Amino acid sequence: MSSKVITLNNGHKMPVVGLGTYKSSPGVVRQAIIDAIEAGYRHFDCAWFYGNETEIGDALREIISSGKVKREDLFITSKLWNNFHRKEKVVLMLKETLSYLKLDYIDLFLVHWPFAFKENGPLWPITEGADAYSDTDYLETWEGMEECVKKGYAKSIGISNFNSEQIDRLLKYCKIKPAVNQVEANPNLNQKKLTKFCKEREIVITAYCPLGRVGEAAERGFPTPTVLDPKVAEIGEKYNKTPAQVVLNYLISLGMVVIPKSVTKSRIIENINVFDFQLNPEELAYLDSCNKDSRVCSLDMFQDHKYYPFNLEF
Ligand code: NDP
Repeated sequence: MSSKVITLNNGHKMPVVGLGTYKSSPGVVRQAIIDAIEAGYRHFDCAWFYGNETEIGDALREIISSGKVKREDLFITSKLWNNFHRKEKVVLMLKETLSYLKLDYIDLFLVHWPFAFKENGPLWPITEGADAYSDTDYLETWEGMEECVKKGYAKSIGISNFNSEQIDRLLKYCKIKPAVNQVEANPNLNQKKLTKFCKEREIVITAYCPLGRVGEAAERGFPTPTVLDPKVAEIGEKYNKTPAQVVLNYLISLGMVVIPKSVTKSRIIENINVFDFQLNPEELAYLDSCNKDSRVCSLDMFQDHKYYPFNLEF
């Protein structure tokens, strides 16, 4: 099974299913990438912040040099972390990521969050609070992102965790439009309003935490993932599909790209086999009814930051 593709506003094509890599530990991510390639994945969602790009790069080099897959058949995303939002830093940070990934260019480079932290401060400033914030404007950051395209280091650029006001502010200012906004989306937070808003502006939504980060949800007190809902399991049985496959199919039907993370071979295979069934209107309505606008990644410890994105409805 391979993934369907979606065409971005600049003509580049992006596979609709990608493999997430957050918390895929360096010891296991190599095998996950290899299993994913075997299963038909060509899209990998990475980030400097995840601390595992070196091993992902080793796996990609191995796969490309074995001749199994050509570089141009892959779609690799990475993201600029919050401490590096100054315009001058952006190209440098992408070059660092490219050296980890052992690539000459990336397919999509995203601004990971609209808010910035001080350049020499902590990467995850929980106790330091506002002392660690930087007020570098994401409009300045975007100029650096545009440089990445001009220099040929990124085919497409985009944003992540931006709200509707931030998107419109950026669109008024930018020379290159963002191709993608990567945000949390799952049936608990179906993002229909933001998806419509972005679609009208030719921006594709990528859904992160599409499975509600099910492995950690109970322990960390996250909203109960819809993949654990017996009704969703029942819907899946009808099509001989698992709850995860039902949820991924639903998100794709809403026009999104999905990037489920797994390091488990059977689940990696499962999560891309989502194109051979179609939910009926009652089933779609049930999944719609699960929306609670509740987040796994609210990052509310940073809600006093000037550019915190989740104080708006969408
Ligand atoms: P997901 O919703 O993808 O959930 C991942 C969890 O689900 C893991 O515990 C995984 O376990 C488990 N899992 C995977 N497949 C199945 C399945 N078929 N059945 C049951 N359990 C399953 O959460 P993530 O937070 O990882 O989100 C996906 C990706 O989105 C990230 O990896 C990252 O690339 C990106 N992301 C981006 C953010 C941003 O700010 N832009 C924020 C958060 C995530 P196991 O691995 O053990 O199989």
